[in-house]
Amino acid sequence: MSISNNLLEIKKKIHKAAESCGRDPQTIKLVAVSKRHSTASIKEAMTAGHFLFGENYIQEAAKKREVINDKAQFHFIGHVQSNKAKQAAELFSMVETVDRYKLARALNNHLNQLNKKLDILVQVNIGKDPHKSGIMPEETTELLERITSLPNIRPLGLMTIPPLSKEKEDIRLHFKNLYCLAEDLAHKKLFFDNSSVELSMGMTQDFTIAIEEGATIIRVGTAIFGERPTLA
Ligand SMILES: *Cc1c(COP(=O)(O)O)cnc(C)c1O
Repeated sequence: MSISNNLLEIKKKIHKAAESCGRDPQTIKLVAVSKRHSTASIKEAMTAGHFLFGENYIQEAAKKREVINDKAQFHFIGHVQSNKAKQAAELFSMVETVDRYKLARALNNHLNQLNKKLDILVQVNIGKDPHKSGIMPEETTELLERITSLPNIRPLGLMTIPPLSKEKEDIRLHFKNLYCLAEDLAHKKLFFDNSSVELSMGMTQDFTIAIEEGATIIRVGTAIFGERPTLA
């Protein structure tokens, strides 16, 4: 299957999942996760009309940005070390993985110099999985309260990677919990736009469930680009 065919198939599934629960498919953004895939693959997706990508590694994304034109936008979805905050602030239209104040503050300082505003999501460890990064759900209020004082950062919503599970209903429960948490935080007026909060959840295995549970951003890699090449 070609990348353009895969994209078509995914978009059909997004439509179907959205319609099955009475949502407008236009409100769901597809981040094509291109980590470890070539710039040729990204270009192929762009030729097919897709312009939103996700990357996990700053160095890799920097190299790709040099050869991919500005029609493409990139979300950062990996772990950001605070000493890479400068590059993260430059390269991405959104950083989905802010999970501590120190990082938010570092991004804010670099954005000042770049004269840029940056959309971010707070990554939440919704399943309290010791192997996953992200802030604990009960700590999100305090983090967002502190982020409010950073003028260059726009907290648009939450992102999560649930613990690995083969049980669909386990995964669904985590997505439901993230939705409820976002509702609570919006009620407290802690987001940039509290009437329209972004929820990034769902990958190749579970994006239709995520859509049913309110995802506005899904991050799909394998189903678009195929299996990822292993690291050299
Ligand atoms: C790799 C990755 C994805 C994509 O995973 P697939 O299973 O290939 O769709 C989504 N989100 C994050 C944070 C990732 O690291």
